[in-house]
Amino acid sequence: TKWVYIFGENKTEGDASMKELLGGKGANLAEMSRLGLPVPPGFTITTQVCTHYYEEGQQYPSELKEQVHAAIAAVEELTERQFNSTTKPLLLSVRSGARVSMPGMMDTVLNLGLNDRTVEALAKDANDDRFAYDSYRRFIQMYSDVVLGVDHDYFEEILEDFKDEHDYSLDTDLTGDDWKEIVAAYKDKVEEELGRPFPEDPEEQLWGAVGAVFKSWMIPRAKTYRALHEIPEDWGTAVNVQAMVFGNTGENSATGVAFTRNPSTGENALYGEFLINAQGEDVVAGIRTPQDITEKARIEAHSEKPSLEATMPEVFAEFKAVCDKLENHYRDMQDLEFTVEHGKLWMLQTRNGKRTLKAALKIAVDMAKDGLITKEEAVERIAPSSLDQLLHPTIDPNSERDELTVGLPASPGAACGAIVFNSDDAETEKANGRSVILVRTETSPEDIHGMHAAEGILTTRGGMTSHAAVVARGMGKPCVAGAGSIRVDARNEIMSVDGRSFGKGDVITIDGGNGQVLAGKVQMQEPELSGDFKKLMEWADDIRRMNIRTNAETPADVKVALSFGAEGIGLCRTEHMFFEGERILAVREMILSDTVQERKAALAKLLPIQRQDFIDIFELMVDRPVTIRLLDPPLHEFLPKTDEDIAEVAKQMDIDPEELRERAEELEEFNPMLGNRGCRLLISYPEIAEMQARAIFEAALDVSKRHGRKVTPEIMVPLVGLKSELDIVRASIDGTAEVVAKELGEKPEYSVGTMIELPRAALLSEDIAASAEFFSFGTNDLTQTTFGISRDDAASFLGKYQDRKVMEKDPFVSLDIDGVGQLVKLAATNGRKTKADIKLGICGEHGGDPASIAFCETVGLNYVSCSPFRVPVARLAAAQAVL
Ligand code: ADP
Ligand code: MG
Ligand code: MG
Repeated sequence: TKWVYIFGENKTEGDASMKELLGGKGANLAEMSRLGLPVPPGFTITTQVCTHYYEEGQQYPSELKEQVHAAIAAVEELTERQFNSTTKPLLLSVRSGARVSMPGMMDTVLNLGLNDRTVEALAKDANDDRFAYDSYRRFIQMYSDVVLGVDHDYFEEILEDFKDEHDYSLDTDLTGDDWKEIVAAYKDKVEEELGRPFPEDPEEQLWGAVGAVFKSWMIPRAKTYRALHEIPEDWGTAVNVQAMVFGNTGENSATGVAFTRNPSTGENALYGEFLINAQGEDVVAGIRTPQDITEKARIEAHSEKPSLEATMPEVFAEFKAVCDKLENHYRDMQDLEFTVEHGKLWMLQTRNGKRTLKAALKIAVDMAKDGLITKEEAVERIAPSSLDQLLHPTIDPNSERDELTVGLPASPGAACGAIVFNSDDAETEKANGRSVILVRTETSPEDIHGMHAAEGILTTRGGMTSHAAVVARGMGKPCVAGAGSIRVDARNEIMSVDGRSFGKGDVITIDGGNGQVLAGKVQMQEPELSGDFKKLMEWADDIRRMNIRTNAETPADVKVALSFGAEGIGLCRTEHMFFEGERILAVREMILSDTVQERKAALAKLLPIQRQDFIDIFELMVDRPVTIRLLDPPLHEFLPKTDEDIAEVAKQMDIDPEELRERAEELEEFNPMLGNRGCRLLISYPEIAEMQARAIFEAALDVSKRHGRKVTPEIMVPLVGLKSELDIVRASIDGTAEVVAKELGEKPEYSVGTMIELPRAALLSEDIAASAEFFSFGTNDLTQTTFGISRDDAASFLGKYQDRKVMEKDPFVSLDIDGVGQLVKLAATNGRKTKADIKLGICGEHGGDPASIAFCETVGLNYVSCSPFRVPVARLAAAQAVL
């Protein structure tokens, strides 16, 4: 088996398509080499080695050593340097790289191969002691930390003490002799901690680092990350071993990171940061304040430090050309890492860059407009569920702001919550139902769970490419980073700024769009569809086949849904209308009536109110379809519970409160969700269906007449299991239509259909379709009744089911395609057998879930209906479902 793949001038064995085998980083290093870009040569040990390692009790494949040695020989030839040489030593970087970028994996080890002899050779060869010993101290610290498990704080303390003693402020102030002293102190520290000396043998160093990468695949924080992102364990990680290039050889050298477009706004402008005379992750670690790559960014940031464009114009020009080449090649925005050694550019990484949703939309739309990608590809590039972020509130521009400070606008959106100072607290508070803002000096991979739990993240150190900024953008969480005037005392849980201090639990607001940090809670405003978002949605609308409707009954909800592009109402739940204001009193009267006469009297009070509700909706919906569901829930949901309520209803009905209480008790059911509800109720009390049908017809005729158009409501009967049930309710509806026609001299137009929400209805759909013009899949109840799981009681065990992998997903969130889906498919097929043009839709929560929507497309439903805020998600998901 081939376990090792080389990359380098004229020798590259892999390419970008081999991410599974080589990991993302390895595959892209190979691709860049193939493109003829300046990439230091190296090789990738495949993910299969990782899998093998864990399957075989942490043993490497027997051929591995030999293949690694051959690869090193190839690198030696390309670089004209030798590993462990005492004249021209080859130094290596050892980097982890899974298929998808995975924070939490082992940190990179740089400058591997140095020891007391090779460092002297390096110094002599470069004629630069400072550079050689700076590299050595970095190596000892990194290797000790990530491979030997010696905490990096020890090394930082030694360095800080040394700098204090010598009155140095920057690391770059230290001379070669200084670093020599530091190196000696570091090595003593390692020996003290481990009881054995730092490994001098480069071969031993290499295998130590390789092993550490594989071991890091199974450490808790990597496992947590995989669990959160549904990354399978057996993917494994690759290891990239690469010749070092050096950004720390002086003023003519540098290291940096860049995005080919702005990852926060999506603006088509190169964006990045770099540090002169630095190495590795100095830029992101916030050791010195980095400099901007372009002049444009420098001016916008009011920075006085010169840009790369100004200081190294030739390197900049070459880098810019590389960026353009890579963006065109990958047809997506790239996130790049590079190093400049003595004025020569080296590319160390490229990948599709993480970006905010706002940037993602802009980039997709811009690239499609420029013809770099198709509209279909643009539509496919946005994850429907991510749209949620844009549908979140932002700070009302007219609200008062008690501004504490301004940091970097690292990830847009506004968030408000109680301060917590560590990730565990964030998680606990969130579990207790509180919104929190995680406030930290800076974040690290150990904070992922806290960042997930928090509404927003505030850091006092680090730039736009700091850990907090990158991760928050990926998560779509608002983040203000590098708010330097804030002091965080995490141990005592105090944050102070500008003479004011805040403790744990104090509420603050952050605005990730402009970097503001505000005291207290601030007025927020609702989002709207505009710009790139609107454009992309229009493209999605051109592509999708299914219609998107909404579940709404109040004018406010209907308006929101319409503004988000709803094409109809798929579910108008009439019972929701019964709870509002004074109506509940009349509803209670109706329920507690003893005789048909009494009930009709109470219903007569509800009629005009209900009619007006429908008028309002028909007017707002103009000629879009509206499906109205007749009364569905068990009556006890409306019953008066408190003595006060009972007294009020009794007074209204002019009866004794005690008698009323008894009637209410008679209506109690053991299992109301399976009791007298839905069509059963409409059959027990036909007056209810008649009143509702009348209200619908009168409203439809009224709006038709006043606006000179046809309103054709779709009346939906809930919880049907038998055709005969539907026939009875249908008869009351049809009868009412005739009465109304006689009274008003005009026959209402309407259709009647049924929910499919009981397994029996799905099984007998061929039969039921004879009496229905449409089916609407009520997948909430259908899931409940198919599984026999009460959706109101599921929380106590579904979580554990998911933990123990009994069930992969919550079936109430994402449709159980294997089981419940079969019933949906069956009913769709059989319904069409009876009535070829029967209209089919879904109105459960699943109508807003992308995976469920994809399934609906395969079944050929006519529409999905979801809550108003999910409408854009559904529009996009429905488009992706046909691509
Ligand atoms: P991460 O996955 O955390 O980005 P990388 O493997 O990309 O880790 O390494 C981090 C940094 O280490 C790089 O951005 C680069 O600055 C430095 N680095 C990695 N390999 C080399 C190399 N061959 N020469 C010089 N610097 C390197
Ligand atoms: Mg890293
Ligand atoms: Mg990197």
